Amino acid sequence: MSKNLTSRAEDYSKWYNELVVKADLAENSAVRGCMVIKPYGYAIWEKMQAELDRMFKETGHQNAYFPLFVPKSLFEAEEKNAEGFAKECAVVTHYRLQNDPDNEGKLRVDPEAKLEEELVVRPTSEAIIWNTYKGWIQSYRDLPILVNQWANVVRWEMRTRLFLRTAEFLWQEGHTAHATKAEALVEAEQMNNVYADFAENFMAIPVIQGVKTESERFAGAVETYCIEALMQDGKALQAGTSHFLGQNFAKAFDVKFTNNEGKLDYVWATSWGVSTRLMGALIMTHSDDKGLVLPPNLAPSQVVIVPIYKNDEQFEAITKKAENIIKELKVLGVSCKFDKRTTHRPGAKFAQHELQGVPLRIAIGPKDLENNTIELARRDTLTKEIVDMEGLPIKIKELLEVIQNDLFKKAFNFRENHITEVDDFETFKKVLETKTGFISAHWDGTSETEQKIKELTKATIRCIPLDSKIEDSVCVYSGKPSKQRVLFAKAY
Ligand code: AMP
Repeated sequence: MSKNLTSRAEDYSKWYNELVVKADLAENSAVRGCMVIKPYGYAIWEKMQAELDRMFKETGHQNAYFPLFVPKSLFEAEEKNAEGFAKECAVVTHYRLQNDPDNEGKLRVDPEAKLEEELVVRPTSEAIIWNTYKGWIQSYRDLPILVNQWANVVRWEMRTRLFLRTAEFLWQEGHTAHATKAEALVEAEQMNNVYADFAENFMAIPVIQGVKTESERFAGAVETYCIEALMQDGKALQAGTSHFLGQNFAKAFDVKFTNNEGKLDYVWATSWGVSTRLMGALIMTHSDDKGLVLPPNLAPSQVVIVPIYKNDEQFEAITKKAENIIKELKVLGVSCKFDKRTTHRPGAKFAQHELQGVPLRIAIGPKDLENNTIELARRDTLTKEIVDMEGLPIKIKELLEVIQNDLFKKAFNFRENHITEVDDFETFKKVLETKTGFISAHWDGTSETEQKIKELTKATIRCIPLDSKIEDSVCVYSGKPSKQRVLFAKAY
């Protein structure tokens, strides 16, 4: 199908970009910063969506849909949120084009068709949703509202990369409304836990749960919880966020309710989201120089069968075997594809499935027909074995579980080996140059120190881990008192 990828050691960033395109996941489009997600990439995203959707529903949420456009007056109502997103907003000013009298065959914006109020293309939906919730909430009986939306959003990012940071991206955004602060906090924490569970147990990506510092917090949030992952090049990636919004949006949109004591109060809010960035996390956590490595949970086909034959008779016998295997695997809930294309030779098929990360490959040739065997190859370890047909489906099912666990363990060990505790700034700088990964260090809690460290090293505070021990110490940079270690890293 295609030639070798650039290796990770040679140029990590090039490796990533090539992999995304060659594995047929996505490509750049005619629109600056916006990508086309191709069918194979979209099938993986759909797997993520399905599992997340199941988890949201299991925790009591329902899906709904709100408009793509936010009238500017609504957008600016919550000042901090508006200020935070203003610099990356796409804005609709007109609603019609017309023939350009000065430029034949071309169209121009009709100056007569200027919108009375400009519309912001949603970079996030708190504004339009809280304006809507105003009409839904009168009393404590109307609460909680536990809603999620699957949607696209637009943030006019200056430096974009396929999946990791695009100007338009797909995501889900949960928006919940609660009667008490305590309940909203529990919700924000719960959804961060759901994300961590999903990342670790479904995507096989180990994550650290924490809260963001003030400067990294979502615009308009009181507290931002997050899951942070470590990529193979030692850079961190924010994989999901869950915000406790306090009463900020209720106040901005005047959403009050009568509580059970008959008193009026503002409603408490959360919002939480993960995006197609998770595709980037997936690729950069597990893949290798041969291409994508998919955890079985995310593979559109968990197994692929490639026939190797010299004549029609052999092909027919292999087809029969393959169909049987597929049928038996289906019963066990394992997806399997028979790659019987006549347009590609077995070698080319092997290369393609390797590049696209199919967890297990079965090859069946004339010898296997004689011996009642198959050849089974693992994508993650690149190992092969000859296996008897007897008991094959169960073996495959078990092996897929092993692969899923092994991928997590491998990524977990890598992450653990790339967290360095540092207590002085010289070492801090040295570690960043040589080892990369997370640096666990004390910080004095000020934005000034955080900013200074960022200027000097490009490392930012990824999060204050939820399990960070409280202890008396001093800041790695300023020497001022510090109560706990935080995680620094260079990040995507
Ligand atoms: P936020 O609303 O900023 O908390 O972001 C919600 C989720 O979307 C987080 O998981 C972010 O990592 C992710 N995200 C933010 N900006 C982008 C972007 N430009 N492209 C893809 N994902 C993004």
